[in-house]
Amino acid sequence: MKLYLLGVNGPFPASGGATSGYLVSADRRLIQMDFGSGVLSRLTAVCPPEDLDAILISHWHYDHVCDLLPLIYRLQAAGRVLDIYGPADGDSPIRKIASEASCFRLHDVQAGDRLEIHSVQVQAGPARHPVPGIGFRLEAEGKILGYTGDTNTLPSLADFYRGCGLLLADGLFPEADWAERLPHLSAVLAASLARDAGAKRLIVTHLNPLFSPSLLLREARAIFPDTLLAEAGNVYTL
Ligand SMILES: [Zn+2]
Ligand SMILES: [Zn+2]
Repeated sequence: MKLYLLGVNGPFPASGGATSGYLVSADRRLIQMDFGSGVLSRLTAVCPPEDLDAILISHWHYDHVCDLLPLIYRLQAAGRVLDIYGPADGDSPIRKIASEASCFRLHDVQAGDRLEIHSVQVQAGPARHPVPGIGFRLEAEGKILGYTGDTNTLPSLADFYRGCGLLLADGLFPEADWAERLPHLSAVLAASLARDAGAKRLIVTHLNPLFSPSLLLREARAIFPDTLLAEAGNVYTL
C-alpha cells in the first residue's frame, strides 16, 4: 500500500501549497481521500484523475472538497463517472453541486459503515468537527492506514485506529493554542492518539501556514517518537 501526500495544508494553502488531499494506491486500486484546493493539479502529476476507483470525503469543508469542482470538467472530458463516499451534509453548497453533476455518484457514509472498494476494505469512523465528519481506516495487502479527517478529541478514536501501520492525523494546533471547543487536535493530541492506538508511525497533517512546523514536530515527538510532519509530494510505503 502506498500513500501519496498531495496536499497537507488547512484551512488554506501555504504559498505554492495545497489543502487536504491524499492518494492511496493498494492492490492495483487508486483511492483518493479528500480533494482540497490544488489537489487536482498534483493528482494529475501522479495519475490521470479519471483512473481513480473511488473518492472518500471526510467532510464537506472547502479545504477538503473544492477541487471536486474542476474535476467535473476533467471527468466530463473523459466520459467517466466516479463514486464519492462521504457524510451527508445538507448545508454544503459543494456537496449540492457534486450531487447534481452527472459525472459523480454520491454515497452517504456515516461512522460505523463498512465499504469494499474492490479488494480494499474501508471503514468509516467517528470525528468531532463543526460539520458532519468521519475518519477512515483502509485495509489492503495486510496493511492498515488510518486518516482522521478533521477532528478534535473523542474517546472512541483510539479504538477505531487500533493497530494502524500508519496514522495520518489532524494535528493543526501547537499545544498552547489548542482548546477543547476548537475543531482540531493539537500535534500533541495526534501523537497521544497514535500512542494509545498502538500505531506504528504517525504523520501529523492539516498544517496551518500560520503555525511553526518545527514546534509541532518537537511537541509530537516528545509523546510519539515515530512522528513525521506531512510534506506535500512525499510518498510512503506501508
Ligand atoms: Zn480542514
Ligand atoms: Zn474541517
